[in-house]
Amino acid sequence: MSRRRPSRLLRLLACPQHGLTFAALLIGEASLCALASATPCAAFVVAWLLGLALWTLLEYLLHRFAFHLPPAHPLAVFGARQHFDHHAAPERTPITKPLVLTAPALLAGHAAVSWLTGSSLVAPLWAGLVAGYLGYEVMHVAAHALAPEEHPLPSFQRAHLDHHVDIRRNFGITSPLWDVLLGTRRR
Ligand SMILES: [Zn+2]
Ligand SMILES: [Zn+2]
Repeated sequence: MSRRRPSRLLRLLACPQHGLTFAALLIGEASLCALASATPCAAFVVAWLLGLALWTLLEYLLHRFAFHLPPAHPLAVFGARQHFDHHAAPERTPITKPLVLTAPALLAGHAAVSWLTGSSLVAPLWAGLVAGYLGYEVMHVAAHALAPEEHPLPSFQRAHLDHHVDIRRNFGITSPLWDVLLGTRRR
């Protein structure tokens, strides 16, 4: 008798840290949207989309320049060691970044940019950025946890699995844009 495979959602949540990360980012997203509730609708949408676009660039730069530092580098504690371990055993869970690193970075970034600019648009901008980061975590887990025929965006999965073959290529997980513009897209 053939056994049914668990649903896609169950496999994305198979590791408790994955569920915790997704839940924490959803709570952060809801809090930022509540904080931005007085922002006029059009300004909210523009700032949110800008934050989302900003995330795709940040994801590329972090992955290319911070997460691929040698593990002995003094700055490798900020994500590179965990990423090195991920490259050594790509299917080993947890795949998501540790919340002890990412939550303080997101909170401190929001506080610093709010303080520097004094703008009420920082909350919707950060909501877009956090949504992009949540997309990154979900798509990274999906790239490793789902079979190619089950993945909703197989070309994104293929691009990331190619990055595991050649670490000089395909740094984007949620978008191929910066790899294409900066010449690191694997053909
Ligand atoms: Zn990976
Ligand atoms: Zn990598």
